[in-house]
Amino acid sequence: MTIKILISPPATGKTEQCIQRIQDALREHPMGPVWVVVPDRLQAYAFRRRLAADGGAIGAHVGNFGDLYQEILRRAAKSVPVASEPVGHRLLRSAIHQVKAAGGLEYYAPIAEKPGFLRVVEGVIAELKLARVWPEVFHEASLDYGVKQIELARIYAAYQEIIGKIGWADQEGVNWLATEALEMEPDLMRDLLLLIVDGFDSFNGAQRAAIRLLGERVPDLLITLPGTQDSERTAHRRFTRSLQKLAAEMPVEVEHLPNNPYLHPPLANLESNLFQPEPRAQSTQNRIIQLEVRSQPEEAREALRWLKARILRDDFSPFECALIVPNLEKYRPYLREAGDEFGLPLRFTKGEPLASAPPIAALLALLDLTLKNFPRRLTLEAVRTPYFDLSQFNFFHDDAISLEAVSLHGQVIEGLDQWEDALLALASAEPTPESDEDAAGGGSALPCGEEAARLWSGLKTFADRLMYSGLQTTGEWVRWLEDLLEDLQFLRDRETPRDEAAFLGLRETLRALVVGELITEEEAIDSRHFVTNLKGVLEATGYQERVRWKEPAIQVLGVLESRGLRYRAVAVVGLAEGVFPEIEREDPFLPEELREVLGLEPRLGREQGGLFYQAATRADENLLLTRPYLAEDGERWESSPFWIASSVLIEESPVVVRPELPRSIQDAGSSQEALFWAVRRQGLPKEFEGVLLPRWQHLRISRDILQARLEREPAGPFDGDLCNLAISLEERYGAEHTWSPSRLETYGTCPHRFFVQNALDLEVREPPEPGYDARQLGTMLHIILEEAYRQAEKPADPESVIDALEHVAEEVFAGAPERFGFRPTALWEVDQEHMLSDLKETVLAIAELGEGWIPMAYERVFGLEGSPSLSVEVEGGFVQVRGVVDRLDEDDEGRLRVIDYKTGSSHLSPRDLIEGRRLQLPLYAMAASQALDLGKPAEGLYWIIRSAKAGSLRLSKFRGEVEGETFAGLEGAFKLTQQHVSRIVMGVRSGSFLPVPPRGGCPSYCPAVAWCWRYVASGW
Ligand code: SF4
Repeated sequence: MTIKILISPPATGKTEQCIQRIQDALREHPMGPVWVVVPDRLQAYAFRRRLAADGGAIGAHVGNFGDLYQEILRRAAKSVPVASEPVGHRLLRSAIHQVKAAGGLEYYAPIAEKPGFLRVVEGVIAELKLARVWPEVFHEASLDYGVKQIELARIYAAYQEIIGKIGWADQEGVNWLATEALEMEPDLMRDLLLLIVDGFDSFNGAQRAAIRLLGERVPDLLITLPGTQDSERTAHRRFTRSLQKLAAEMPVEVEHLPNNPYLHPPLANLESNLFQPEPRAQSTQNRIIQLEVRSQPEEAREALRWLKARILRDDFSPFECALIVPNLEKYRPYLREAGDEFGLPLRFTKGEPLASAPPIAALLALLDLTLKNFPRRLTLEAVRTPYFDLSQFNFFHDDAISLEAVSLHGQVIEGLDQWEDALLALASAEPTPESDEDAAGGGSALPCGEEAARLWSGLKTFADRLMYSGLQTTGEWVRWLEDLLEDLQFLRDRETPRDEAAFLGLRETLRALVVGELITEEEAIDSRHFVTNLKGVLEATGYQERVRWKEPAIQVLGVLESRGLRYRAVAVVGLAEGVFPEIEREDPFLPEELREVLGLEPRLGREQGGLFYQAATRADENLLLTRPYLAEDGERWESSPFWIASSVLIEESPVVVRPELPRSIQDAGSSQEALFWAVRRQGLPKEFEGVLLPRWQHLRISRDILQARLEREPAGPFDGDLCNLAISLEERYGAEHTWSPSRLETYGTCPHRFFVQNALDLEVREPPEPGYDARQLGTMLHIILEEAYRQAEKPADPESVIDALEHVAEEVFAGAPERFGFRPTALWEVDQEHMLSDLKETVLAIAELGEGWIPMAYERVFGLEGSPSLSVEVEGGFVQVRGVVDRLDEDDEGRLRVIDYKTGSSHLSPRDLIEGRRLQLPLYAMAASQALDLGKPAEGLYWIIRSAKAGSLRLSKFRGEVEGETFAGLEGAFKLTQQHVSRIVMGVRSGSFLPVPPRGGCPSYCPAVAWCWRYVASGW
C-alpha cells in the first residue's frame, strides 16, 4: 500500500491534520486500533494532550518507535527482556574483556577498560544497530579500513553474541527483532486502522525498515515532514534528504497543506525567509528579540528572565514556554542556578551522568577512602557529608572541624597510622592553653584527652567497617555494599527528586552488576576491582528526575528534542561560533567514507541549518535568540552564522545587555536581582519598599564598602582606616605592650597585613604537606649552628666548630620530624647531607669575614623569660621590644658584632631598612648594648646560611637618606630605626591600617590574600 507523506512548513497544521484523521478513523471504528509514533516521551505527552483536548484518545495509542517495536513483539509473542543502560554497559565491558583476553585488541588494548572508551564503543554499536548494520556486515566493511575498525568490529560481534546467548536485547536491538517479526509474519499488525508518524525530520535505517514493512499491511500510514516538496531551500535540505530516502525505499505519495502558517507575521517572515537569498527585514514588534549577553551564565539568566516575564506579564503557562539549548551539559548548571533563584520550575529532557549526582559522588569518595589509605581531605569529607549517618561510630558531622584541626596539628597527610599517632598523642595530652601568638597551627578546635580518644575509636571502628580484603564475587560485593549503605543510612531521607533519581539509579546499577556477573560467569575479584567496575558503570549511566508531567514547568530541550513541539514562547540560547552550529569533525572511529558505505548519517555536512530552522520555528508567538559576546578567556566571541541569518530578517538591532549599565527594576527575575539593580541605580522605588527595605538598608552598607574598595587609593574605614578604634588600640598597644621586631616589620611592610595577622590574629591554614616548611627549616639550622658553636672546643676556629657540627647535626636531624612536627619525605636523607654541607660552608665563610671576631654569645633573649626588654624612645614615651639575638661576636677591643641568621635572602638590603621593612638587625644591635649590656656594637649583619654569605646590609657601612636627612653608620641606622618604630607604633595606636602591597607582590602567607582588594600577585 502507498505510504502518504504530508509535507508542509512548521505551524501549518500537520498535527491538526493527523488528529483529524485519527478522529475520522475512530468515528467509524471507535476501538481503533490507531497508532501514533512520535520522537520521544515528551512529544507523546504533548500529542496525547492535544488529542484529549480535541475529543478523546480512546482507541489511539501514542508512543515512540521503541513502544511500537515492543507492541509488535508482544503481538508476535516474541517479547524479550530489554537490558537497561547499566546492564548493557556491563555486557559490553565483558565483551571487551573477552576480545582483549583472546588477543583481539592491540590498538585499543591500553584504553580498553577506560569508561570513556566504553562510552564511545556503546555509541558506535548503537549507531550501527539503528542503521541495521549487522556485526558481520560491519566486519566485512572494516577489512578495507584499518586495525581501529577491525577491532571495533570484533567487540561488536562479541557483544552481540553475549546478549544473543542470554536471549536479551538492548534498546536498539529491539528494532531488529521487531522488523524480523514483521518480515516473518505478513499479517502482524494488519488490524491497525491507521498509523501516524509525526514530529520527525529524519529517520534512521531501522525506522525506515519498520515503516516500509508496516506500510505493506496498514491501510492508512501517514508520515508528516516539515518543508515543501522539491524545496531547494537551505533550511529544508535536511527534510528533503529524508523524503528522498523514504521515497527510495518504499512507495510514497506526497500530500501538501496550504502554506498558511498560524504564526505571528514576524515569526512567519523568519520561517519563510531564513537562509534565503535576498532576505527582507521586517519590524518584529517585539515578537522576535535578539539579545547579546556577556557570558553563557548570564545568557541563561536572561533567557529565563524573559520566559518569566512571559508567564507573569503575558499570562503564559509554564507548559507553553520552552528553552532550546544546543549544548545542554554546558548550560545545565547555569540554568539550574538561575531557575532556582527566579523560582522557575524547569524540566530537563535529558539526564546527567549518575556519577555526577552529589550523593553518588559522596559514595564513590567513601569507597576511595580505604583504597587511598584515608587521605586527609577524603576522610574529612566522609565525616562531613550529610549523606551518611556515622553516629553508630560515635561520629557526628561537626567532628570534621576537630579532625581538621588534628590533621593540621599532627601533620596528617594520609594513612590510618598518621591519624592514630596524631589522635593518640592528643588523647594523652592535657588541654593546652591558647597557642602562642607567633606559633603556627593550633586553635580552640583541637581536641584533647577523652575527646581525642573518642575520635580515634570512632575512626578506627569506621575504618574497620569499610575495609575488606580478599576476593569475593560481584554479587557478594554488592551485598556487602548494600549492607554498608544500610548501616550508614545512605539517602534514607531523599529530600529532592534528584536524590530520589540518584538512589534509584544506584539500585539499578548494582542490579546490573549482579546480572552482568551471572551472565558472564566472572571470577571472584578484590575490592579495588569491584570499585573500579562500579565507578565505570556509574560514569557511563545517566540519571534523570522522574518526570511529573502534570506539574507546570518550563521545558529545557536539546535541539533534536524540540522537533514537532509547539510553544507560545521559545528562547534559543548559544548562538555563538562553535556552539550552534557545533564544529563538525570527522568521526575518529568511523571515517566518513565508511559511514557512507554502511549507510550511517554523515558527520560532516549535517545540515545543522535545518536544526536551527526547526528550533526557531517552534514558537507561535514570541521568540528570543541569545548569544554570548565574550568567551571564557575574555576574548570577543563571534556570533553564529544562524544569528547573522536571523539578524538580516529583523529590522530592530539586537539588544546588548551590558552588566555595568543600570536596568529597570521591574525586569528583575528575583528579589536578589531587584536589590542588586536598585543599588546600582542608587535608589529603591517606593513600590518595592514594603518587602525589600531591610535588605536594601543592609545592601547600602555593602555598596559603600564596595565603593570604597574600588577607589584608586585606599582610604576610609572599609580599607583599614580604623581611627574610630584609636582609644582601644592605644590601650592594647600602649606603653605596657612588648613588641617583637617581626611585628614591627609586618606593619612596616603592609599595615593592613599587620591588622589582619596580628590585631585580628588570623593565619593562613595550609593543609599539611610531606616534608618541612621554611619555618621548620630555619629553626633546625639555627639550633644546629647554636649548638655547634657552643660545643666547639674553640668557637673561633672553624675546624673545631665543624667537628662539633657533624654530631650536633646528626642528633638534631634524628629527632627533627618529631620535634618540629613534619613528615620526612623520601629525600630526607639527601636533604640532611645538603644542609650539613651548607652549614659547614657557612662556618668557614663566617670565619673568613674578618679576623679578630670571636663568638661570645648565642640565642640571647631580651624582653622574654624575665629578662629586660629593649626600650626604644619614640614620640611621647618608650616602646618595649623583645627578641632573641642569634649570635654575638666580640673583638679584642670588646666591641660587638651582631649576626642574625636567615635561611632566605630577600629583604636584607640597606633599602629595606631605609623603607622600614627590616628593623631586626639594628634593634638587636641596640638590645646587645642596652638590654643585654654586653658592650658597644660595632657591626651588624644578616647571614644567609644556605648561601654562606652575608646580606648587603652592614650596619657599620650603612648610609641612607630619608626626607632630606642623611643617616650613616650604626648610629644613623639606630636613629632611623627609632623613627620607623615611632611611626609604626603611632600608626597602630591611631588605627591606621591601610593596605600597601609590598614591592614585588604580596606574600602568599599574608592571611588577607584571599580577600584583600589591594592584593598584587608576586612576580618571578
Ligand atoms: S594582600 Fe597585600 S596589600 Fe593586602 S594585606 Fe596582604 S600584603 Fe597587604
